[in-house]
Amino acid sequence: MWVRIEYDDVDEIRLEINDADKTFLNINNSAEPFLLSKKNMNTNVEDSDEITITCLGELTENKTITAYAYPKGCLAKPKEEQEEEKIVAGQLLVCKNNDIKESKIVLVRVISAATGERGRTGVIEAKEIELLRSFLYQALIFPTIQIESNTDAGQPIILDLSKDRRFLTKEAARTLAENDARNAGAGAAAITAAGDAAENDPNTAKHIIGAQIDFNIRTLHSSGRKYKIQDMMQDIKQKFMNEPENSFYRECFPIFALDEEASFGAVTEATGVKNVILAKRERRADAALVHEVYHGFGLEHTHDDKPPANPADPPSVIKQGNRNQKYIFPAAPAAGSTANIMSYNLNKYKSTWKWQWEIARQNV
Ligand SMILES: [Zn+2]
Repeated sequence: MWVRIEYDDVDEIRLEINDADKTFLNINNSAEPFLLSKKNMNTNVEDSDEITITCLGELTENKTITAYAYPKGCLAKPKEEQEEEKIVAGQLLVCKNNDIKESKIVLVRVISAATGERGRTGVIEAKEIELLRSFLYQALIFPTIQIESNTDAGQPIILDLSKDRRFLTKEAARTLAENDARNAGAGAAAITAAGDAAENDPNTAKHIIGAQIDFNIRTLHSSGRKYKIQDMMQDIKQKFMNEPENSFYRECFPIFALDEEASFGAVTEATGVKNVILAKRERRADAALVHEVYHGFGLEHTHDDKPPANPADPPSVIKQGNRNQKYIFPAAPAAGSTANIMSYNLNKYKSTWKWQWEIARQNV
């Protein structure tokens, strides 16, 4: 919040709630007006005073909290004169909160093992889930997050790719097929034939998930065909959703956590598409999950992804007329960058903005 006043000096600046609204709102759990300290005048209070505004119930209409400046000497006067002399210095709008959108999200731990060694299972930490909830609440989106299996209480939801030859190297696919044939009691010739068939299957090693997954270079198929990472993500989502026991999750926004190295920490299949994969936990910031889920709900970055060569030119995203990228700011850590969750300031995340809530809520 930025409060600017044209007076040389004031007794106080107070944030006040109208008497009629005191049953709906309070500031810092107190009925008293909140005093903005003088050190915060003409400055951004982001890094100093923090206020907590609590809605005491459902708001069916927007409410305002007003910042009043009391000119020098005013507070020594009778109450009635104070009321006459106080000056509106700013207003906070508290939006109505009775239109909550619900979103179903499923967190899937993926087992992967490209070279056939023991599978590694992806991790999603509780603090990432808490951040996801609190940031979606800002947009009045209430997430139902499936963390445990709906049929097997207490158990995580698992997708096992460690035996799917599309995600294995050719050697691993051959070994797996040969072992399966051997275990089924096949003879030596049949075992070799099963191995050959697996190795030569055109889908084998389609997505080499054990090599470092690279968002830019794309996964390279053994046939020489290049697949975008989006192809891999579509195959992962389809495999999960097509399992009959996963029909319960078909309407959900899936998050797939892998325990794999990648050139990214987390990624969305595309803006507006509900499909996110997370790479190794150490590679991603705590807020990366929130950032990607908001991409899935249609939000773009709050900085220009392809800044024009000449800084005097209009930002490229505005030239392209991207309606979901309305306002852009310098990319972190440059001066003037923001702490919006859609910036790359992922260790300083704080905010989402009203116009972003509107886009996200349309796409939930
Ligand atoms: Zn992003």
